[in-house]
Amino acid sequence: MKIAIIGGGLTGLTTALFLTKTGFECTVYESAPQLNEIGAGIWLQPNAMQIMKYLGLQERIITSGCRLERIDIGRPDLTSVKDIKNKTVIDEFGNKTVAIHRGRLQQILYEEFSKVGSIELGMPYKNHEIAQDRILVEFETKRIEVNALLGADGIHSSVRDLLFPEAKLRDAGQVCWRGVSSFQLPADLQNLGRELWGDKIRFGFSQISNNQVYWFAVTRRKDFPKAMSVSQLADLFSGFDAVVSEIILHTNGIHRAELKDLKRLPSWHRSGVCLMGDAAHATTPNMGQGACQGMEDAYYLSFFLKNKPSVNDAFMAFESFRRKKVDYVVNNSWLFGKMVHHPLGQTIMKVILKSTPERIIKKQTQHLYEVKSPALTV
Ligand SMILES: Cc1cc2nc3c(=O)[nH]c(=O)nc-3n(C[C@H](O)[C@H](O)[C@H](O)COP(=O)(O)OP(=O)(O)OC[C@H]3O[C@@H](n4cnc5c(N)ncnc54)[C@H](O)[C@@H]3O)c2cc1C
Repeated sequence: MKIAIIGGGLTGLTTALFLTKTGFECTVYESAPQLNEIGAGIWLQPNAMQIMKYLGLQERIITSGCRLERIDIGRPDLTSVKDIKNKTVIDEFGNKTVAIHRGRLQQILYEEFSKVGSIELGMPYKNHEIAQDRILVEFETKRIEVNALLGADGIHSSVRDLLFPEAKLRDAGQVCWRGVSSFQLPADLQNLGRELWGDKIRFGFSQISNNQVYWFAVTRRKDFPKAMSVSQLADLFSGFDAVVSEIILHTNGIHRAELKDLKRLPSWHRSGVCLMGDAAHATTPNMGQGACQGMEDAYYLSFFLKNKPSVNDAFMAFESFRRKKVDYVVNNSWLFGKMVHHPLGQTIMKVILKSTPERIIKKQTQHLYEVKSPALTV
């Protein structure tokens, strides 16, 4: 069976790796002429690290990034809203969150896949047609025929536009500013992820290598609608612990992203074509789970394609298996973002966090981090 994957992002590459290891012939078609993930970091939580373990990439990712004991929610002065124990936020296999440069992570996946499969860069998908049991896929410069088409082309997916033209993005009214700073955190912060909540602004950071700190700042768009310089952003966070301004001031380039998610689609697939990752269920980044969920998609979809009698049966099983968890992430992430940037909402969140017993937090994180059987052996 021939499979085409549109998009060489974290979802597309992880899917390609699982599919080839499972025995499928698959090619990735990526619109960008070269893979150039923006200069920011990413937090891969235990569920994603378990998926990476199945691919044999866990150690390489840990040594290329920074293993975090936990991610703490704190106040601007760095004190924690609640002291959560490290063991509460590891999964049943001992996986912890790993913070890594996005470009480095994508390069690892790309290099691994290049050993076993083919990725065509500079190949933007244009269109597809169904012809009996085959799919004719059209790019700018060529046409191909495949048995299954996977749309892993991100939040602005063109494959989705063709399948579900009525799909809509939901605007959170918030802006995320991100950067990588040439900086080393004080020793007591080096193995932690921190997210500090201020008055309608928040700031998160962690070490991603010995001399690099990844950071993000979230503001309401109506307060700061346009581009901000390094010094303007540092001024905005001048009321926070001095380490925050230090991190910002050691940054070269700032990336600005308006936060959006995707309104729940009626379905993820149609006639041999299936969406995955952000193309199917883009979430706001407040739970740090977007890419983790795309990686889970990769793992489960490969399993169902191998074990179901037809492509469409596999897509149906995949969607029904994945919907509940993905809906949980998208909805809670949306709510989280709204609450933290609202004065009363933030107070409520802090009360809830402080009063929730550790064992309940453990249960919630285990639910989020669980990578369920059916186990896929590759
Ligand atoms: C501010 C911010 C912080 C985040 N932090 C985290 C985090 O800490 N942890 C986490 O798990 N998630 C995080 N996320 C979410 C995460 O970035 C996304 O969920 C993830 O990158 C989605 O991967 P994807 O491969 O599905 O889509 P994308 O990364 O968007 O990749 C899609 C790929 O498809 C290509 N493409 C697009 N159109 C076409 C076309 N027509 N033809 C061919 N190729 C095409 C694109 O060039 C791209 O390479 C964050 C998101 C944001 C915005």
